[in-house]
Amino acid sequence: MTSLRFKVVDEAIRRKAKEVALPAERPSEYFGMYVFNRDRMRKYLPKNVYVALVDTMENRTPLSRELAMNVAAGMKQWALEMGATHYTHWFQPLNGGTAEKHDAFVEHDGHGGMIEEFSGKLLIQQEPDASSFPNGGIRNTFEARGYSAWDPTSPAFIVGTTLCIPTVFIAYTGEALDFKTPLLKSIVAVDKAATSVCRLFDPNVRKVTSFLGWEQEYFLVDEGLWAARPDLILTGRTLMGHESAKNQQLEDHYFGSIPTRVAAFMKELDVELLKLGIPVKTRHNEVAPNQFELAPIYEEANLANDHNLLLMSVIHRVARKHSFRCLLHEKPFKGINGSGKHNNWSLGTDTGVNLFSPGKTPKDNLLFITFLVNTIMAVYRYNGLLKASVMSATNAHRLGANEAPPAIISVFLGRQLNEVLDKIEASTSEEAITVDDKAGFKLGIAHIPELLLDNTDRNRTSPFAFTGNRFEFRAVGSSANCGGALTVLNTAVAAQLKLFRRQIDELSATGMPIEKAIFTVLRDYIRECKPVRFDGNGYSDAWKQEARERGLDTETSAPLIFDRFLTQESIELFTSMGVLSKVELEARTEVEWETYTKKIQIEARVLGDLAMNHILPVASRYQSMLLDKVAKFGEIFPADEAKQLAEQDRLLIVKLAEHMKEVQRQVEEMVEARKVANRIADERAKAIEYHDKVLPLMESIRYHIDKLELIVDNEMWTLPKYRELLFLK
Ligand code: ADP
Ligand code: MG
Repeated sequence: MTSLRFKVVDEAIRRKAKEVALPAERPSEYFGMYVFNRDRMRKYLPKNVYVALVDTMENRTPLSRELAMNVAAGMKQWALEMGATHYTHWFQPLNGGTAEKHDAFVEHDGHGGMIEEFSGKLLIQQEPDASSFPNGGIRNTFEARGYSAWDPTSPAFIVGTTLCIPTVFIAYTGEALDFKTPLLKSIVAVDKAATSVCRLFDPNVRKVTSFLGWEQEYFLVDEGLWAARPDLILTGRTLMGHESAKNQQLEDHYFGSIPTRVAAFMKELDVELLKLGIPVKTRHNEVAPNQFELAPIYEEANLANDHNLLLMSVIHRVARKHSFRCLLHEKPFKGINGSGKHNNWSLGTDTGVNLFSPGKTPKDNLLFITFLVNTIMAVYRYNGLLKASVMSATNAHRLGANEAPPAIISVFLGRQLNEVLDKIEASTSEEAITVDDKAGFKLGIAHIPELLLDNTDRNRTSPFAFTGNRFEFRAVGSSANCGGALTVLNTAVAAQLKLFRRQIDELSATGMPIEKAIFTVLRDYIRECKPVRFDGNGYSDAWKQEARERGLDTETSAPLIFDRFLTQESIELFTSMGVLSKVELEARTEVEWETYTKKIQIEARVLGDLAMNHILPVASRYQSMLLDKVAKFGEIFPADEAKQLAEQDRLLIVKLAEHMKEVQRQVEEMVEARKVANRIADERAKAIEYHDKVLPLMESIRYHIDKLELIVDNEMWTLPKYRELLFLK
């Protein structure tokens, strides 16, 4: 909706949108054209190097320096042919997003000229001057060195004219300073533990892969309007703005037709992503106005996560080309849905079995139930930690704030699966399982249908839902690096599976048949983890109460939720699985608190500034106009009549005065609260102070500003309103 105050050049932009040149070829022809994928590896690398590299990618065997030299040479040749001039180690620091430092492919040739150079040494390891990335105190400035090291399991790619090499980022002393390092370690941990459990069923299993299929939600706003909202520019969300009279009540945006401008943007985005090897498949409108979603076909978790991070940078570039700004913030607008990033997660074997798919034979089904129940156990045991893994200042607006998903991590299974588990729980292993040497064994439980859930069986309020052949972790924030959540999930499941295998071994050492041992242990687990299973309405107050009684983690304060990283249990979990050390955990938690504080601090400052130099001046100008008018009534009409005529305005003047007074008073109070908080040296205590003292004032200031927005003359209001920002046509 255009307004008189903020005229959007819709027509011109729409015309331009129609002119977007799309490649004539089919996606299958340009898919991955900017990726140093296996085809290119085969073409640009000597055969023995290719074989060794594939082995490294598949089995994580170390690659020798000499082979790396060869890989670098091949990669360079390809990149130069593609027109690349620079290369960069592409890594994932703890402040979110990705970081890169570009270097040109040039070196002195020793004879006064230049040659294109890219050695194996530069491929394998670099030392970016990255001392300002958050590190939670691991790197004192005198020892500020951080190294980026090649991750050969994720292929290099070209963006613009730069060859990007996915890397881990670690401190001189070996601690991880990024999201990728622990994710890779958690992938190894869950592989090891899951493989050992799979072998109870099938000795041929050699490897288990974790898969991720993310669904990215985002908002688009017109760039011109965005530019007139300092809060969107500086914080990524609107800090004020009254709800539009119409927002998402009619749910007419969801799966509605996609506006032309947006469709043009989506098309170009898809092409760009496909060229980068990201297998995008689904795109549609979301529930809130101007909200959209994009999802690729799922991939191996590390690669899928790299692809998500890449998307998060490409989407901004393409959006700007179409005169949009893309908002990845979890809650850009109050009163309508926020954005998440569902993480569809599953485990699969190198023998082609999805461990979360019910099978055809009783044995397959026991395997399925084994992985299902162990996962539920892991979520039960570490539900507080899982919540910590998705918590942030921005995602806090979703979690527990009366919107998807609640701040309590529970598991949704659906009616059929619940019945299966209930039946196992109630059965004795003798009746449930019959072992028969000739026919193998039989499960006395009902046949598990292959497709367990249809769409109607879905529960959108569950943060962790089983959806037929995978779990969907829905609490991850739209701006987050999925690596944080996946690391915790993989590690928790790994530890649980390891424990399971040990218990089976102990029982079978007593002479109990394997199937019976499995059944016995699973039945105990089903009893134990029951409190985490919940199929009801996750938003209801009754659930909050019930969850507390069930012993689940119901904390809602972000700074306190971060404590879950440092419990004895968590430290034990991460260290025993070889994923993160105690020092690394402490450092990461420190970064969480620090980042939390900084985000709220910036928002509070922006809100204060806007209140003082946009809102109050405008409100007071409008108030003077009304005062003038009232005075003039007195000049023209007899006192009685004037009083009567001015009554309405008088009321408005008083209302304006009340809200303005509150805004002014509370902004001052907020400044004082910040001063107090800023004096606190301890990062945890500081974050708590920001959460407890600053945040509530921001809410309250906003309340009064939004009231003023309703009263003040529309023509005078300087900020684009929700109704203008939110309805792209
Ligand atoms: P919905 O919005 O209904 O949840 P989408 O089709 O938007 O479904 O997204 C589903 C996502 O789950 C896709 O990324 C898809 O590739 C992914 N997915 C499907 N099967 C699996 C699986 N076994 N493991 C991991 N991800 C999966
Ligand atoms: Mg989904």
